[in-house]
Amino acid sequence: MHRNRKTRMAVPAIGTTVLLLAGCAGTADVAEQGDPSRDATGTVSLVPSRGALNGGNTVLVDTGDDTTAPITATFGDSPEVECQFDQRSARHACTAPGRHTPGTVDVTVNVEGTPLPQQLPYTYTTDGSQASPAMVINTETVRQRAQEVRAIYPYGVKLGAVLKNGEPVDVFGRVINDAVSPDYFFVPTLDDAITLRESGIQSSIAVMYVSRVEEIPLFLHYDIEASAIDSAWAEEANRIAAASGGDPLRVHLWIDTGMGREGVVPDDAFTVARTIEESPHLELVGIATHFNAIKADDSAAIAANDLTRHTVLQKNRFEGAVNQIREAGMGQNALIHAGATDVLVHGIEELNYDLMRIGGAFFGASAPEERIYSWTTTLTQVKELPAGWCLDYDCTTPTASPIRVGLVNHVPRRENEVEFTVRGVKVPALLNHGTVVTLDLSGVPDAVAGDEVTLDFDPRAFYNPDGTAPLPVTTTG
Ligand SMILES: *Cc1c(COP(=O)(O)O)cnc(C)c1O
Repeated sequence: MHRNRKTRMAVPAIGTTVLLLAGCAGTADVAEQGDPSRDATGTVSLVPSRGALNGGNTVLVDTGDDTTAPITATFGDSPEVECQFDQRSARHACTAPGRHTPGTVDVTVNVEGTPLPQQLPYTYTTDGSQASPAMVINTETVRQRAQEVRAIYPYGVKLGAVLKNGEPVDVFGRVINDAVSPDYFFVPTLDDAITLRESGIQSSIAVMYVSRVEEIPLFLHYDIEASAIDSAWAEEANRIAAASGGDPLRVHLWIDTGMGREGVVPDDAFTVARTIEESPHLELVGIATHFNAIKADDSAAIAANDLTRHTVLQKNRFEGAVNQIREAGMGQNALIHAGATDVLVHGIEELNYDLMRIGGAFFGASAPEERIYSWTTTLTQVKELPAGWCLDYDCTTPTASPIRVGLVNHVPRRENEVEFTVRGVKVPALLNHGTVVTLDLSGVPDAVAGDEVTLDFDPRAFYNPDGTAPLPVTTTG
């Protein structure tokens, strides 16, 4: 035992010498001296090198020597954990501590009280299958995008940020909040709203689409605004808020003006508004709709009151309902909100109202280098298939000539076509079974196993990954 102890113990001194020499010579190549802590038993490493935020998973550490005594490891700024030697893998088994935000931390390994010179990176991701390649969010790009939104945003209109492109909602919220302090955050679920509130955001936070009455105590507890469904919902919500004895529940009335989605039809808006207004424990803080067919020239259509245009119909229905409510003395303090990214970018000022709900402008981009997400994996295997070789079940497409193929694994099949790029060349998928994907590498003859593969969704939908099938996501910065 401890065959290599001496070698390892000598490491810090050698390392220091090399650094000093490098400092003197100015041009000395430190890397060329070799990694001083490597020895016969191999490289210092962690497996796996990534895991979910909640921690609790086993991470095996190769210390690079043959020590079997317990070691300790420190993951970022979490408290040190003790790792016992594991006979089966001949490595030390640590339990990863949990962490709040995704991102990469340095792991420091201590052997017999001496920290190894290497800092090993360990990446925390949001939940989602750890087999899937993780998506990386460039938070600096999100910050820039938020500033671009603010720069074109109309003066005097409140800014609502819509966060519905999945995890990590707290990172998006914090970055956008720090960059441009939106007046409001709109989210699809109460869980997201609570996450934002717990991350310290003090702006108004509203849940869109549906607010379940059973959850109203949580809305009250976290000071989150709800969406009224109908009069029966409002009566029940009032009863629950009354029993809480605290501040009234803040409620938005959504009107479906021709999308067939969230909200009440315009004819019912007045009745629901009246139920809310007559409920002492509810406060009507917003009246909203969502446009679904915005066109660049809608301002002209609005000026001409062109009733063949859907936006004009929606606007008239919305304003008709709002006016009826207001003329009855109700909703005087309610924010009127309807426009989203398309209204902002086309500058349709007639639809600005009191507040706009902006989602896509924070996340969308067509040019790859402007995207906030990067998503990569590696070629796990490269081989050449003979001519006449079968592909897929039932041999639907035998190869015409020998063909070089590469495999990638665990790429979720999503609502959008996933595009694969190797060495800058877009490569077709010959078969895609999700857990195994065979790529046609005939356009990239130099490709080898281990090469990076860039994954991409349809750029128009890329900002909006499917939150119901979460991918593990991590962040830079
Ligand atoms: C998605 C959504 C928005 C934001 O739309 P973008 O086009 O992404 O800006 C606003 N309001 C509602 C109700 C939405 O569903």
